Amino acid sequence: MKTLSLVIITFCVLSAGCARQRTVQRTETIMGTQVTITVVAPTAGEAEAAVEAGMAELRRLDAMMSLYKDDSEITMVNRVAGRGSVKVSPEMIEVVDAAAEVSKLSDGAFDVTVGPLVVLWQMKLKGGDLPTAAEISRVLPLVNYRNVVIDRKASTIFLRRSGMIMDLGGCAKGYGADRVAAIFRGRGITNAVIAVAGDIWVLGNREDGKPWRIGVQHPRDKDRTLAVLELRDRYISTSGDYERFVIRDKKRLHHIIDPRTGAPSEGASSVTLVGDRGALVDPLTTALFILGQERGTAIAEKLGVDAIFVDSGGTVRTTRGMAAAMRD
Ligand code: ADP
Ligand code: MG
Repeated sequence: MKTLSLVIITFCVLSAGCARQRTVQRTETIMGTQVTITVVAPTAGEAEAAVEAGMAELRRLDAMMSLYKDDSEITMVNRVAGRGSVKVSPEMIEVVDAAAEVSKLSDGAFDVTVGPLVVLWQMKLKGGDLPTAAEISRVLPLVNYRNVVIDRKASTIFLRRSGMIMDLGGCAKGYGADRVAAIFRGRGITNAVIAVAGDIWVLGNREDGKPWRIGVQHPRDKDRTLAVLELRDRYISTSGDYERFVIRDKKRLHHIIDPRTGAPSEGASSVTLVGDRGALVDPLTTALFILGQERGTAIAEKLGVDAIFVDSGGTVRTTRGMAAAMRD
């Protein structure tokens, strides 16, 4: 998975008068991507224990939600698509519920059943080809989030059509970051950064009492920073076409598929959203990436989410709230 180099700038400077705090940071590969957790606590031992608890939670969710594990809950749901429902953990119901909300908000631009298209593109590109129009139209009818049947009481998920593939790659990171943030709050950890690739919970402040600063990379120039945001108790998510892509026939083919066309989306080159719930903001970022700046801005403003859009020509546009945050 893409690792956005959202740079976390942590200056561990102690200001006079502050109670001494310790900062511990660790990076691991989980959910197919780089996870970096930074925790500030009164002792290094407490910080280390919190980091480990956070990593353990993400490993547990990955074991449940990964398409690349034969015994994950999602693999079992996909295996019996069209035939039967599967009993799943409450976490699976929650993540799919939040995704469905974003599907409705975005008119299906975000769709957890995008799997057959993702697989088709991966398979074809690996062999050096592009999928044909016929191949795309053959799998398109399998992509429809309305055919995911959730039974909350029985805690089951059923995919109505055989061949459907649920793919939580666009929403599991945000849900996971929410869970880690909740675990931290439960342990009394109020100052931390939980970065699951480009999906980041920013809690409280740095060790020196100043806000965390999150740098957003320019999608066409990795050495250029688009913005540095000072965030406190906010969730930030970026989707871009610049980490995982190939160029064919002058087209940039990347990993976010527009379910309306069945092809990699051309709506934007990067979208960054700032909100307060990862389970929603993560899939929303993918949705607005597909819908582009005009429709995306309308949805973001309606939801009270701040946004930075960079279109394929490199033009940067922001919502009003974000413009204010970027001025500093
Ligand atoms: P990243 O994984 O690079 O951080 P995103 O959060 O935008 O980026 O998620 C992209 C992933 O989501 C893809 O790798 C794929 O698994 C899945 N995906 C692609 N297109 C869609 C879509 N239209 N709706 C839902 N999920 C999608
Ligand atoms: Mg996403």
